[in-house]
Amino acid sequence: MVAIRKVECPTNKIGIKCPYKMTPTRIVIHNTASNGSAQAEIAYMHRNGNTVSFHFAVDDNEIVQGLDLNRNGWHAGDGNGKGNREGIGIEICYSYCWKLAADGKTKIADEKTWKSKYKDKFEKAQRNAAELTAKLLKDYGWGIEKVTKHQDYSGKHCPHRTLDDYGWDYFLNLVKGFMGEKTETTDTATKKEETETTSIKKGCKVKVNKGAKSYNGVSIAAFVYNNVYTVDEVKGSRAVLDKNGICTAFNVKDLTIVEDAKTTTKEPVANVPVVEYYPKYSGDSKSLVDALKSLKIDASFNHRKEIAKANGFTDYTGKAAENSKLRTLLKNGKLIKE
Ligand SMILES: [Zn+2]
Repeated sequence: MVAIRKVECPTNKIGIKCPYKMTPTRIVIHNTASNGSAQAEIAYMHRNGNTVSFHFAVDDNEIVQGLDLNRNGWHAGDGNGKGNREGIGIEICYSYCWKLAADGKTKIADEKTWKSKYKDKFEKAQRNAAELTAKLLKDYGWGIEKVTKHQDYSGKHCPHRTLDDYGWDYFLNLVKGFMGEKTETTDTATKKEETETTSIKKGCKVKVNKGAKSYNGVSIAAFVYNNVYTVDEVKGSRAVLDKNGICTAFNVKDLTIVEDAKTTTKEPVANVPVVEYYPKYSGDSKSLVDALKSLKIDASFNHRKEIAKANGFTDYTGKAAENSKLRTLLKNGKLIKE
């Protein structure tokens, strides 16, 4: 499965995005109806001030988690119904592409560009989402009946692309495939083997299963079965044990892990968008402009508009009410840098 990268919900957004504790009972599948990456979807979700939120966004390369699974999201359109309050929301990216109509304002579907630029990405994203769904079903001990769609809760035609171009059963079959259940898809078996073999890795302590031959089919000395060895190299299904000692390769299926590899590799952090705040305003001016100026922050309208956008005010016009909210954030040290 592609990596799951978690990006914490900013603390000042928890009250908007995931205010309630949740014990999940289902999965709710969506299509984003846009052409942003998973990272972009989650960043936008965290940034804006709308009561719209979901747990995962999945694209062709990665899965980004933006909410804890024990907090609710707002994605199913059913208010305080089971979709929002008990559902793990998964957004599949790249389901739509738009262009401006002749009037220069109205957004209309651009299927041609979608087909040439996004179809492939969407299909990969859809597979990745199915694999994530299968993992969650396994984690929670659920069956396929726990996989639901946005449409089930509010009637919205979502996940639109999945429904229109592939069919809901197609998606459910993908999920079943990743759960190891028999479907017509041929790559299920390979997937399964992959997940079974990947747990043996460099640094693991293992025992060789009694009676197993070496990777090349050579019989080995009986004492080998009694010892514990360190895995020094893994390539596909071939693992080399104890390079300085017996230095013999085995098929990973003939090995049993005694002790897991010590994980020293750090989580990749390079791409995690870090939320940065402006320094706290400790003065008592009621004017946002004065407060910004006192902190040597550009207080021009255009810059304020940028700041407002970063803090979820998408249509900033410079009204007193908006400025006052921004000033409060600044005062609390919670004004996000643009
Ligand atoms: Zn939806």
